[in-house]
Amino acid sequence: MKPLSKNIIIGIIAILVVSALFSSYSLNADEPEEVTLATLVEEIEAGQVSAIDIEGVEVLVTLTDGTTQTSRKESSVSISEVLIDYGLTAEQLRAADITIKDRSTRSYILGVILPSLLPLLILILIFWFMIRQMQGANNRAMSFGMSGAKEMKDSKQKISFKDVAGAKEAKEELQEVVEFLKHPKKFSDLGAKLPKGVLLMGRPGTGKTLLARAVAGEAGVPFFHISGSEFVEMFVGVGASRVRDLFSKAKKAAPCIVFVDEIDAVGRQRGSGLGGSHDEREQTLNQILVEMDGFDPNIGVIVIAATNRPDVLDPALLRPGRFDRRVVIDLPDIKDREAILDVHAKNKPLAEDVKLHRVAERTPGFSGADLMNLLNEAAIRAARRDDTKISQEDVLDSIEKVLLGPERKSYVMSKEEKKVTAYHEAGHALVAHLLPNCDPIHKVSIISRGMAGGYTLKLPSEDRRLHKRAEFIDDMAMMLGGFIAEKETFGDVTTGASDDLRKCTQLAREIVTRYGMSEKLGPRVFGNAQEMVFLGREIHEQRNYSEKTAEAIDAEVENFVNSAMETARDIIRKEKLQLDKIAKKLLEDEVIEKEGFEALFETKSS
Ligand code: ADP
Ligand code: MG
Ligand code: ZN
Repeated sequence: MKPLSKNIIIGIIAILVVSALFSSYSLNADEPEEVTLATLVEEIEAGQVSAIDIEGVEVLVTLTDGTTQTSRKESSVSISEVLIDYGLTAEQLRAADITIKDRSTRSYILGVILPSLLPLLILILIFWFMIRQMQGANNRAMSFGMSGAKEMKDSKQKISFKDVAGAKEAKEELQEVVEFLKHPKKFSDLGAKLPKGVLLMGRPGTGKTLLARAVAGEAGVPFFHISGSEFVEMFVGVGASRVRDLFSKAKKAAPCIVFVDEIDAVGRQRGSGLGGSHDEREQTLNQILVEMDGFDPNIGVIVIAATNRPDVLDPALLRPGRFDRRVVIDLPDIKDREAILDVHAKNKPLAEDVKLHRVAERTPGFSGADLMNLLNEAAIRAARRDDTKISQEDVLDSIEKVLLGPERKSYVMSKEEKKVTAYHEAGHALVAHLLPNCDPIHKVSIISRGMAGGYTLKLPSEDRRLHKRAEFIDDMAMMLGGFIAEKETFGDVTTGASDDLRKCTQLAREIVTRYGMSEKLGPRVFGNAQEMVFLGREIHEQRNYSEKTAEAIDAEVENFVNSAMETARDIIRKEKLQLDKIAKKLLEDEVIEKEGFEALFETKSS
C-alpha cells in the first residue's frame, strides 16, 4: 500500500500549507493599537480620522497621521448607527469626511465560509486521492466494461512467418487465414464462408502467441490481443461486458484478428468450477459464444485463440461455426530445433566451433521458448567469461542449465558423499548403457546442479512420440540403477535416491492405469483424472473401480517395480568391475562425456 501512504502524506502537506497561509493571513506583522468605540468617537470629533474600514465586527481605523487602530462593533449594526449611538451627531459624521468601506462580504467569505468549508474540501481531496489510488490497483475493474484489449497495429517489430521457424503445417493452415483476411471478397463472392475461429493448440512455449502475431503481420490487419485471464475480474459480469466491447471494437476495425491468448482461463468446461469465480467464467464464456455466433462471418473478423490445455476446453467452443479450425503445434523436431536456433542466433556472435546441429541433437523435448532461453543463457555465460563470442561450451553448458538448473560449484561434497554420488550415477549409467531400450548416455556428472546431487544425461537419438512398453521397463530399471548401486556397494542406501524412486513408482503406476500395458489387468484405463479448476492441476483422482481392482493395481505396480529392481541388480552384480571403473573415473574427473564413457567399455572388451 505504498502509493496510499504517499497520498496521505500529500494530503497532510496540503493541510499544513493551507493552515500556514491562513495563519500568515491573520498574523499581520504590526499589530495596530486596539481602541474603544468611545475613543474612536472622540477621534472623529477631533477630526483625526481619515478612513474607516469595516470587516465584519472588525473596525479598522486609519488616522490622518497614517497610524492605524482597530476596534470592534456588533456585526448586525452599521458603523454609523454605532457611532451615532455613541453620541456622534449626523452632521459631525458628515463633516469628518471619512471614507467608510465595508469589506464585510469579502471578509465574510474569507473569514467565515472558507474556514468552515476548508476541512470539507481537504476531506474531498483526500477521498479523491484514495479513489484514484484504488483505481490504480484495479484499473480495469473501474473501467468496467472496457476490454483492455491491446491493439497492435503498426507495431515496430512486425512479425512475419519468417520469424517462426519450423511449424510447417501450422504455417500452411494459417496461410489460408492470411488469404481470407487479405482478400475476403474473393472468398465471399464464391459463396464461401470464412472461418470464424482458429484454435492454436500446443505445449507452452511452442510459439502459439508468436504465430498469431505472425498471421496479423502477414495479413497487415489490426490485431487485438487479450489474454483469457484478463476477462476474469473481481466483479461478476465484467468479463462478459468486456467481451462485448472487444467484439464491437473488432467489428469496427474489420478485417482484423482478435487473439485470445490462454483461452482455457475462461473456456474451461462449464459447471466444473469450484469457488466463486466460475460463475464469472461461465458468463464470459457464454458471451464469447454468443458473439462468435452473432457476427457475419464475411465481415472479416477472425478469432484466433491459443491454449495449452485443449483437453479442458468446453465442447461448445469446439463446435463447428466457432473454433472449427484447429491447428496443433508440436514440440519442434530436430530439424525445426536447428531452424529455431538459427533464428535466435542471428543477432548473437557465435564462435566458429559452434555447431547448432549438435545443439539441436542434444535438446529433444525443448520448446521454441526453451531454445531461445538456451541461447540467451549461453550469451550470458560468454559475457561473464569476458568473451566476445559464444563458444560451443557455453551453449552445451546452457543445455544442462536449462534442463537441471545452475551448477552449484560452491556446494562442496564430503569425500564420503562424493563417493556415494559417484556410485549412484555410475549405477544409472551402467544400467542404461547395457539395456537395449534405454537412450544413449551423453554425460555423467557428479557436480551438483539445481536440486540434483549428480546427474546422468541420456538423450534419445531421435525424436519419438510413441513409447514402447519395453522402453518403460528398461527405463524403470535404469531409474533404480542408482539406488541398487548404492546398496550393492555400501550395503546401505541414502536419501539421494528418493526422487528416482518416486519417478519409478509413478511410471509403474502409469504403465498399469493409464497405458493399459499390464498383462494381468489388461488394456483398461483406471481412474478418471478430474480437474480441480482452481489449482489447474490434477489433484484428485476419481476412482471408477472396485476395492478389489485397487488391490490388483497395487500388486501390479509392485510387480513392475520389483522386476525392474531385479533387472538392475543382475546387471550391477554381474558388471561390478565396470561399475567400479565408471565410479573411479567420475571421482577423478567429476564429468564423463559421451565419448569418454563409451571408451570405458571398449577397453574392457579388448
Ligand atoms: P506460447 O504462446 O506457445 O506459449 P510463445 O509464442 O510465447 O509461446 O513463444 C515464446 C518464445 O519462444 C517466442 O517469443 C519465440 O521467441 C520463441 N519461439 C517459440 N517457437 C518458436 C519458433 N517456432 N520459431 C522461433 N521462435 C520461437
Ligand atoms: Mg503464449
Ligand atoms: Zn539417481
